[in-house]
Amino acid sequence: MKIYNYTDLSKSKIEELCSRQIEDDKLIEERVTEIINSVKSEGDKALIDFAKAFDKVELEKLFLDTEELKAIASNIPAEAKTAIETAYKNIKTFHQSQLKTEDKVETMPGVICWREARAIERVGLYIPGGTAVLPSTFLMLATPAIIAGCKEIVVCSPPQSDGKTNCYLAYCAVLLGIEKIYLIGGAQAVAAMAFGTETVPKVYKIFGPGNRYVTTAKTRVQNQVAIDMPAGPSEVLVIADESSNPVFVAADLLAQAEHGTDSQAILVSTSNEIIEETLKQIEIQLTVLPRKEIASKAIANSYAILVDNLNLAMDFSNEYAPEHLILATESFENFISLIINAGSVFLGNLTPESAGDYASGTNHTLPTSGFAKAYSGVSTDAFLKKITFQHLSTNGLKNIGATVETLAQAEGLQAHKNAITLRLKTLKG
Ligand code: NAD
Repeated sequence: MKIYNYTDLSKSKIEELCSRQIEDDKLIEERVTEIINSVKSEGDKALIDFAKAFDKVELEKLFLDTEELKAIASNIPAEAKTAIETAYKNIKTFHQSQLKTEDKVETMPGVICWREARAIERVGLYIPGGTAVLPSTFLMLATPAIIAGCKEIVVCSPPQSDGKTNCYLAYCAVLLGIEKIYLIGGAQAVAAMAFGTETVPKVYKIFGPGNRYVTTAKTRVQNQVAIDMPAGPSEVLVIADESSNPVFVAADLLAQAEHGTDSQAILVSTSNEIIEETLKQIEIQLTVLPRKEIASKAIANSYAILVDNLNLAMDFSNEYAPEHLILATESFENFISLIINAGSVFLGNLTPESAGDYASGTNHTLPTSGFAKAYSGVSTDAFLKKITFQHLSTNGLKNIGATVETLAQAEGLQAHKNAITLRLKTLKG
């Protein structure tokens, strides 16, 4: 891990450090285009062929139904069942609190405006399942979809080597009341949900993380469906001072690094000693990690920055706009209002990112690659649309009439003006 001194960094170097260099992989682009076109033209047949080619399974049918899911779910170990239930309870509690009704507003006498939320009727959830199957992502996406009231929730996840799904995903489906899991992975799952096939329903919005095939496909189908957000490799930025615990900081950086070789784990600290200690701890903790090869490559691509004070650390963090921000400091209250760009924030020495990844209640599907400057993470809102309503009383029409007529006239839109004038005349008559 490279160490920089913030005072030595030029503006362009800071920009370079904040840019996520995702190689422009033409091969992936081309492959995804081929996959999308095949799914569009061949439907289910293409999905079965891709499962054979990429997932090495011969599928007889493209989904597991409720009975099959229940049978698979019955194999879940008791401890995992309890953990999934606890995480679900917290995620549900937090996401339910996001449902809010808005007041009606009288913008001028007799003119009443308001907004009401309606659930997106059909949504598609992608649950990654290539290198690791992620029941946590299932909970994070399906729970707010159900709370929002989405009528049809299509869930896709790659088939495992036995041509099925594992007991954890199956148990989530049973717990959440999801009736089917489509055994489809990668770009073909995104294409199937975007365009529909004989078996897979076409949806209006696609959610969920995934590898580069999945995320490239999501960006490619955006003229067809909405997507939750553009996604890139996962990242964390840890801000540490003299009060931080290097053992914990190292563990948090490694938790990010084990996601993938392109994950970024950034340390920004006011203390050189803490940086040195954390780097030593990373070496120690790495040796016993099962995914140490992946994690060590990610750490090698990451960096630490020494800053003079925490305000400068915050400046850098806002410029970087991390998906996950950890304030690994004893006092953090005064810094909360300074956080402008971040996906999700973890406060204090005892609050690891893992808590939010799995079970605290906040959502783990978050904007990466600097998109936290403009995007929020997934929440109940992401599954809702807000419709505006308005009503004019007689008094309201009289009050607003002249304003609309004048503006319509100024824009040369006579029919717009008439829509008011004819009504006002009727009132006079
Ligand atoms: P995945 O489900 O995203 O992808 C597996 C699928 O990729 C396979 O089913 C296959 O169809 C397709 N595929 C594999 N090789 C292919 C090839 N050569 N050509 C075409 N398609 C191919 O699972 P994964 O690969 O394990 O990746 C999961 C990703 O999700 C990781 O990068 C992880 O970091 C990310 N993730 C991110 C978050 C977040 O919130 N940001 C959360 C969880 C996971």
